[in-house]
Amino acid sequence: MNSNKIKDFLFSVGEPIYRFNQIENAIYKDFTTDFKKIKNLPISLREKLSDNFRIISFDAINILTSTKGDSHKAVLKLKDGRLIETAALSRGMLKWSICVSTQAGCPVRCAFCYSGRKGLKRNLSAEEIADQVLFWGAWLKEKSLGEISSIVYMGMGEPFLNYENTVESVKIINNKIGIGKRHISVSTCGHVPNIRQFARDLPQVNLAISLHSAIDEIRDKLVPLNVKYPLDQLSKAIRDYIDCSKRKIFIEYIMLDNVNDRSRDARKLLEWIKMTHQKKYFTVNLIPYNETGKNFKPSPMEKIEKFHKHMTLAGVETTIRKSLGSDIKGACGQLALGN
Ligand code: SAH
Repeated sequence: MNSNKIKDFLFSVGEPIYRFNQIENAIYKDFTTDFKKIKNLPISLREKLSDNFRIISFDAINILTSTKGDSHKAVLKLKDGRLIETAALSRGMLKWSICVSTQAGCPVRCAFCYSGRKGLKRNLSAEEIADQVLFWGAWLKEKSLGEISSIVYMGMGEPFLNYENTVESVKIINNKIGIGKRHISVSTCGHVPNIRQFARDLPQVNLAISLHSAIDEIRDKLVPLNVKYPLDQLSKAIRDYIDCSKRKIFIEYIMLDNVNDRSRDARKLLEWIKMTHQKKYFTVNLIPYNETGKNFKPSPMEKIEKFHKHMTLAGVETTIRKSLGSDIKGACGQLALGN
């Protein structure tokens, strides 16, 4: 929802400012998605609002739930007909993490990722990004499934190639919906200038870097943005980010069989981390690869564990990520629609 437009509208029809606060509370705190259901507004105003505005800027055309019920994926139709996807992932104890998309499609075309297979269609507006959170808030409430505890910008698209709208959406999610900055994580595949900018704009928001290899020749192939911003530049940007924000960085690392999962890859990753900053500033997440085609195979679990041990013994905090939602293609890199 674009609340500035609502504010202008209320002003133009001579409504008092407290009406605006009532509307914002109903939408952002109670997750009301229909103006007609905002009971503390006069009926005539409810009707005027619903004739002129929509609270959620898209329609959910399909919602899929994993067999275990621990993840849900929604296919959303934007107002221009483009399709995007968003997911709700269980964190246990009736808490949910919402995974949002920032672009319809993605221009980066990482070799293993489905989202960019058809290229970029368009950027999402800040409103379209934040509405994904409103959508799940309403849905979880309606089904009595619990509440939202965190947000990850790990859906379709590269947030730092839609930078202003991404930052604006974080502000809406934080200031209006009330999710704490430290419970919001933005993931980038390594847009160097905007990593530095992000440290200035939102130093308390978590930053994840999709690294996947610390060897340029390999990373060039996996994450094509590496050709423009190679590993030494990325390292310097992250050092600046840490110096400016004093925050830890999360390194995402998909485990691809015989591509980036050997001892040499672990050694190079360690070297790259040490060259960047003190080890205490890093957490490495090893991500089991969700198959999206024939070019790669997931690393066997023994290799993931060996890599994990290598990193941990060297003093770098490392976790193996549990993949949720692969049976509904709602897992990382499987958010694919976006035509
Ligand atoms: N473009 C941003 C935001 C997307 S985050 C970025 O790259 O960080 C999505 C995460 O899922 C990234 O870490 C991405 O590399 C990872 N991913 C993509 N395809 C995947 C797959 N098939 N299996 C597991 N992880 C995948």
